[in-house]
Amino acid sequence: MKTPNSLLSATGTTIFTVMSALAARHGAINLGQGFPDTDGPDDVIQAAADALFDGRNQYPPLTGVPELREAVAATNRRFYGLDVDPVTEVVVTSGATEGITASLMALLDPGDEVVVIEPLYDTYLPVIRMLGAIPRIVRLVPPKWELPRAELAAAFGPKTKAILLNTPMNPTGKVFTAAELAFIAELLQRHDAYAVCDEVYEHLTFDGWRHIPLMTLPGMRDRCLRIGSAGKTFSLTGWKIGYITAPRALAAIAAKAHQNLTFTTPPNLQRAVAVGLAKDDAYFAGLASGLAAKRDVLAAGLASLGFGVLPAMGSYFITADFAPLGFTGDDVAFCKHITEQAGVTAIPVSAFYETDAPRHYARFAFCKRESVLTEAIGRLSAHFETAALTRQARSA
Ligand code: PMP
Ligand code: GLN
Repeated sequence: MKTPNSLLSATGTTIFTVMSALAARHGAINLGQGFPDTDGPDDVIQAAADALFDGRNQYPPLTGVPELREAVAATNRRFYGLDVDPVTEVVVTSGATEGITASLMALLDPGDEVVVIEPLYDTYLPVIRMLGAIPRIVRLVPPKWELPRAELAAAFGPKTKAILLNTPMNPTGKVFTAAELAFIAELLQRHDAYAVCDEVYEHLTFDGWRHIPLMTLPGMRDRCLRIGSAGKTFSLTGWKIGYITAPRALAAIAAKAHQNLTFTTPPNLQRAVAVGLAKDDAYFAGLASGLAAKRDVLAAGLASLGFGVLPAMGSYFITADFAPLGFTGDDVAFCKHITEQAGVTAIPVSAFYETDAPRHYARFAFCKRESVLTEAIGRLSAHFETAALTRQARSA
C-alpha cells in the first residue's frame, strides 16, 4: 500500500498525552499537562448549560456568534486600547490550536520562511511544515531566556513571511519585554513580514509583569494575528474556544482557513465565553494573583528540595533544573522516574526543542490546588530523601 502522509507518520503522540497516560497508570499527581484541577467560574458554566436549551443549537455563523465577537472586541479595547471591529476583525476558532493553524494557513505559501523561537509549543513545527513552509529556529537559552537579538535579526531574510511569537511563553514562563517586542516589530517592518501571536496566557502574568500584545506597537496593527484562548482565561481547557483578532484583510483569509478546518465552533460554549469576557477586572486580577500564589508554593517547594528553579513571570509553568539533585539521566528519564518512583509527573523540557536540547530541565504545572502542590512536594521530598539515604548507605 502507498505510504500515508510522511510528515504525520513521523510525528509522535504529543508529550502531554504521553505523560498524562503515564501519570494515570502510576496514580501520579499530574503536574505535566497544563490544565487546572478546578473548573472556571460557575456563571460561565451555567451560561453554557442554559444556552443548550434555548434553541440555538444549529450551525452558528462561520466567524463566531455575534455576542462573542463583540466581547472579544470589547476586551481588546479594555485591556490593550485596541479598536477592533467585531464584524470583520474577529474569528472564533475551536481552541487557540486551531486559531494558530488557521493564522499560519492564512499567511503561508510553500517555500515561505517562518521565524520561531525555541523552546516552542509542539504544534508549531509540524503545522508550518505541513504547509510547505520552512521554520527558522532561534533559540532562547536558560536560565535567563533572553532574546538573542543578533541571531533573531540573522534569521530574517527575503523569504521571511512571518514570526510565530508566544508570549507569555510556554514552557519558560517568560513575558517578552516592551524593548524585545520593539526589536521584533522593527524586524517585521524592515522585512515586510507578519506575526502570528500566540497569546493564550495573556491574562496569566505575575509580580507586576504585564502582557503587551505585539499588535499594540507602532506599525504592528496591520501585521499581527493575535490569538487568545478561553481555555486558559477561564480555566476551562476542555472547551476549546479560541479567538483571532486580526486586521480585516487577514481575518477574512483566516476565516477561509477556519471554514476548511472546522467551519464553526459549538454555539453554547461561545455564548458562555462571551459572558466570561464581560467579567469585571477583579476576575482577571484574581485569576493572576491566585495562580501567582500557587506558583510560589511550587517554586518554594522545589527549591527546598534542591531544584534550580527558574523564574516564571507568566503562564502555568515552572522550569526547574534537576541536575543539583544528583540525577544523572536525561530529562525524559527524570520525568519517567519521578512519575513511576515518586508519584509526581512533569514534562521533559527537551520536548520543546527540535534538536540538541538542554537535558536537565523539567516543566512543572502549578495550576493545581495548593493542597495538591504540597502533596506533590511531599512525595518528591520523601522519594529523594530515601534515594539520598540509600546512596549514603551504599557508599558507607
Ligand atoms: N499555545 C500554547 C503556548 C499553549 O500552551 C496552548 C495550551 N494548550 C495552546 C496554544 C492551545 O490552546 P487551546 O487549548 O485553546 O487550543
Ligand atoms: N498546552 C498544554 C501544555 O502545554 C497542553 C495542551 C495539550 O495537551 N495539547 O501542557
